[in-house]
Amino acid sequence: MSLIVMKFGGSSVGSTERMQRVARRIADYKEAGHGVVVVVSAMGDTTDDLIDQSKQLNEKPPVREMDMLLAVGEQISVALLAMAIDAIGHKSKSFTGWQAGIETEAVHGKARITDIRPDRIHEAVESGHAVIVAGFQGATVQGEITTLGRGGSDTTAVALAAAIKADVCEIYTDVDGVYSTDPRVVKCARKLDEISYDEMLELANLGAAVLHPRAVEYAKNYNVKLVVRSSFTQNEGTSVKEEAVMEQGMVVRGIAYDKNVARISILGVGDVPGVLAKVFGALASSGIDVDIIVQSGTQEGKADFAFTVSSNDRDKAISVVESIRGEVPYRELTSEQNLVKVSIVGAGMVSNPGVAAKMFAAIYDLGINLIMVTTSEIRLSVVITAERAQEVVLALHSAYGLDTAEQAFVGGPQDRR
Ligand code: ADP
Ligand code: ASP
Ligand code: MG
Repeated sequence: MSLIVMKFGGSSVGSTERMQRVARRIADYKEAGHGVVVVVSAMGDTTDDLIDQSKQLNEKPPVREMDMLLAVGEQISVALLAMAIDAIGHKSKSFTGWQAGIETEAVHGKARITDIRPDRIHEAVESGHAVIVAGFQGATVQGEITTLGRGGSDTTAVALAAAIKADVCEIYTDVDGVYSTDPRVVKCARKLDEISYDEMLELANLGAAVLHPRAVEYAKNYNVKLVVRSSFTQNEGTSVKEEAVMEQGMVVRGIAYDKNVARISILGVGDVPGVLAKVFGALASSGIDVDIIVQSGTQEGKADFAFTVSSNDRDKAISVVESIRGEVPYRELTSEQNLVKVSIVGAGMVSNPGVAAKMFAAIYDLGINLIMVTTSEIRLSVVITAERAQEVVLALHSAYGLDTAEQAFVGGPQDRR
């Protein structure tokens, strides 16, 4: 008997019919003698709908109340799924995050898990129940309900798998696995049999929504055996592991893009020590994540620098920089929206020269200007304007030999949710 964690995303439980299908899959594992712990997301677009409703009442809802509201989405799913499993003759018990022993830091909207006490889960598994846990939520030691950030049910699943020492954590979604790029956008994307934790972490951080970055971080830290597969087909999925075999001649494993990029430029700043420390210190204190930072050369004792933030944080970042103008005087502050960061990722990039040159050449051939460039050992990102981002992704996908001849997208329905 294995102990298996199965996580079903919003589209997989988007209707009662889909819930029934999921219940059948869970029952199959139980009938095969496995212990099963299931993590579920809110049904379909429930989380988005709840956010819309809150905004109709309050443009800036209190974060505590927002967590109280959003946690409800997952609670509906767990109860319904437990009922569906009961209906086909299997014992099942649903738990909220708190009941499952998931403790988080006291941060609303994006809390990290600090501890898991899975006693009740073990008890329920041992008494033959399929255990259904609400994803995306936990509670602080003070008993306040928190959520883990959008897409956070993946993190619940992997963290639980680590805590109960599950044999495998299966993430069921609406595509057949992890692809070389988003298969909903690039039809000739290639399904990957394997990908390393490090590569997956880069792709997830760089915009590939298929797994939440924190879930991958957890899987790497606790060496959780992770598989991404479709809840709509029986096809084998993608294994996410420490070392993944790279197909012959393939240096780039995947391409990700992030459409939510804004650039802020601060021009004519005094070229004196401490400027960057003050600006980025102030941004960090305001909870703004800064991504790429570029400083240009100095002229007459003045420097220019630019950085990128998520588009949602642009206005806040501008106010923060303006608020410290007394301490860090500058000549001008400008900003640009509608930028896209396109990234290539592959463990093989470390030992293969010419990967960057190929990327730049492919973009140059399209006559597209690079606004910013940044690299790490296993990735290279460029920032370009949004209009032609899709062309760039397609060109890079074929430049690095990732295209498949057949239509790669075989999972899931036409309509997402
Ligand atoms: P779930 O509701 O199951 O958590 P998500 O929407 O969060 O599903 O994640 C699955 C989606 O991720 C897919 O429908 C696909 O459009 C998108 N995606 C983006 N990049 C990739 C990739 N490289 N491989 C697979 N899917 C990707
Ligand atoms: N329901 C939450 C969301 O939509 C969490 C999740 O689906 O993972 O973001
Ligand atoms: Mg998701």
